[in-house]
Amino acid sequence: MRVEKEITEHYCPLCHSRMHSKGITRRNIKHQIFQYRLELTLLQRRWKCTNDSCNYSENDSFSFIGEHKQTPALIQFQICKEMKNPDNTAVDIGKMFRMSSVTVTNYFMQFVDCKRLPLPKILCVDEVFLNIDSNHKYALVSMDFETGNLIDIVISRRKEDTQRYFSNIPLKVRKTVGFLICDMYNPYINYTKNYFYNSIV
Ligand SMILES: [Zn+2]
Repeated sequence: MRVEKEITEHYCPLCHSRMHSKGITRRNIKHQIFQYRLELTLLQRRWKCTNDSCNYSENDSFSFIGEHKQTPALIQFQICKEMKNPDNTAVDIGKMFRMSSVTVTNYFMQFVDCKRLPLPKILCVDEVFLNIDSNHKYALVSMDFETGNLIDIVISRRKEDTQRYFSNIPLKVRKTVGFLICDMYNPYINYTKNYFYNSIV
């Protein structure tokens, strides 16, 4: 299906001169709502100001999709909604919307910012196998031993990622952790001397 805007007279928002059409770019948009797949071709017109000393130009904009996006905002919203169900994995949702699990994860991370809970007195750490890509196989999970609350999930347990993550938590806050509970994985054990100076394993 082709979507284009009706041609109307265009005036420059900067100098109010007439603008001329400089041709059309075709953009292919995937619009998937459950079993219904709609393939849209957006005919996006480029406009240029006729005033030589101005030279302003712009593209037609469409309210249902961002300028350089391939997926409409509505679909991104639906992906985030499906992610609320803990039984759904990124792979399941990818199948629903016919996109890769990596794309699903990226949309989720783009819109959802899960803040870290305050650090507890007794901190548990472990990994979960997420396999987002080759650099992000194991995510680091931290938990409050006393309440069972999930403190945070870091996208990977690799040193580059965890070092950046823990170093960004103010020292004063890190010093409130008294105990660290983990398995025998050496990097975890070393968190006591690298980040949580007042804690014992
Ligand atoms: Zn102009």
